[in-house]
Amino acid sequence: MDDQQTWQRALRAIDDWHRGLSEECRTQLGELIGRIMLLKEESLRLGLAAGSAEICRTCGGSCCRYGKYHVTILDLLAFRLNSIDPIANFDNFPFCPYGGDEGCLMPPRFRPLTCVIFNCDPIEERMGDDACRSAATLEGELREQIARAERLTGRRLGRPVLLDYGAAETAGQIVESEIPLDKGCINGNH
Ligand code: SF4
Ligand code: SF4
Repeated sequence: MDDQQTWQRALRAIDDWHRGLSEECRTQLGELIGRIMLLKEESLRLGLAAGSAEICRTCGGSCCRYGKYHVTILDLLAFRLNSIDPIANFDNFPFCPYGGDEGCLMPPRFRPLTCVIFNCDPIEERMGDDACRSAATLEGELREQIARAERLTGRRLGRPVLLDYGAAETAGQIVESEIPLDKGCINGNH
């Protein structure tokens, strides 16, 4: 199965999995994802205020190479809950399948955690100490909200989509992220 097929398979499976959650769990998960999206926007705004758009344009996206594993199950779920089909072109290799000539094709609040928390040295130098401290606080909060979503559902939602669903290719194999972290609400337990 190639990456495009794995991606399509993941989209269908994530929808099915989400439909199987209890209504209360879906509500709580939706609230957590909404919070995560806001935190991502805030995080990216710190870099933009320091001039990251211009710096990244000049750089050409060095840190976006090999980005195909950055998108997690939770990221994909955020797209699905907002009725958006994310663009993914895996023929783009080694450039990121979620980017194009004009940069990242994902709206800021949908971008993977790895992408929103990373600021290279030239950007951090322009951000200054206060903004760097704010970025670290936002990263901590983002990680906590993602961990809460994982505890809520009993599923490793921060796992890369392509690894998770690619790993399930072998018939009868249990997908690692579906091994319960704890009881969770995957079967409507809450
Ligand atoms: S964050 Fe840094 S390395 Fe990444 S694209 Fe921007 S300037 Fe380049
Ligand atoms: S998802 Fe966007 S920001 Fe992240 S690596 Fe790909 S192009 Fe870069």
